[in-house]
Amino acid sequence: MPSSLQKIYQSVESRSADEKYADVNWDELGFGVIPTEFMYIMKCSNGGEFSQGHLTPYRNIELSPSAGVLNYGQGLFEGLKAYRTEDDRFLLFRPEENALRMQMGAERMLMPSPSTQQFLDAVKQTVLANKRWIPPPGKGTLYLRPLLIGSGPVLGVAPAAEYTFLVFAAPVGIYHKGPAGLNLYVEDQLHRATPGGTGGVKSITNYSPAYLAQQQARAKGFSDVLFLDSVTGKYIEELTACNIFILKGSVLATPAVHGTILPGITRKSIIAIALDFGYQVEERVIPVEDLLEADEAFCTGTAVVVTPIGAATYQGKRVEYNTGKGTLFHKLRETLTGIQTGRLEDKKGWTMEIN
Ligand SMILES: *Cc1c(COP(=O)(O)O)cnc(C)c1O
Repeated sequence: MPSSLQKIYQSVESRSADEKYADVNWDELGFGVIPTEFMYIMKCSNGGEFSQGHLTPYRNIELSPSAGVLNYGQGLFEGLKAYRTEDDRFLLFRPEENALRMQMGAERMLMPSPSTQQFLDAVKQTVLANKRWIPPPGKGTLYLRPLLIGSGPVLGVAPAAEYTFLVFAAPVGIYHKGPAGLNLYVEDQLHRATPGGTGGVKSITNYSPAYLAQQQARAKGFSDVLFLDSVTGKYIEELTACNIFILKGSVLATPAVHGTILPGITRKSIIAIALDFGYQVEERVIPVEDLLEADEAFCTGTAVVVTPIGAATYQGKRVEYNTGKGTLFHKLRETLTGIQTGRLEDKKGWTMEIN
């Protein structure tokens, strides 16, 4: 191991030995960038494979102005969390799913991707190096952001010749602060994804095009937008960065994933938990009318976990949903977070302990 790296590992060891927690106000955590000490970086060039990844102090990275990611948006991201249990163990939730999703996305974006093992190693090392930033139980989680970008220079519109895989971390609390339920605006002009496009992968190009719709909705007092399918404009798809579920009676429904909706790992887990609870779960095309007639609606994602929707407005018509005690979202959220944080037994083998 080069001596510079040895030093990094030594400093990781010695710090974490004397101080259990970094100097962070754990009661004030939101969803912002609180830098942690280390990140993981690994490169791959000229059609080779990723190799020689390592931890390095968290810092700015240097890119050529002609880097593929800066000019043509060749990039993917992932998002997952590390949880601190009551007895001070560290857990990841279904991290191999994130690795596989990055590989699928990389195929679509013509990029090489780290193997599942490389992805998991990188995430684990990043968590352990930054373990002082994993919030105390109940205060938050350590959000991990793997990035895969075309870092090599390219001028003609084409894939880059060099790729960089990075993992950085930031302690986070609640994503949506404010009133208990989201006040959703159903966007009927702007769209997020198109059939045959990249809506089904976590391409970095999918997010900033949604800012305009979000900003317009926020200016009118809404908390987020729900996008409709771009072909007919009749069916609900998802929010900017989370999936949606609606409950009617004992039937839970969520839009089926056919390339325009991101296949969320939280979505998949919530479907499994709801089935265990005895609910009927439908993955189908959902007309916006079904949303307007639902008893309950909520959204799911690593960042938002399970967040209730308090109201939805479509073409001037506003409907409200049940968000009080006894709601399904509440039960689902308790079970999901119970498994994620080690409070409940993990019968499904979803958590991975790291040490
Ligand atoms: C990341 C993301 C989700 C949620 O996926 P999870 O795996 O549950 O975090 C949903 N929709 C979009 C558009 C996303 O980017």
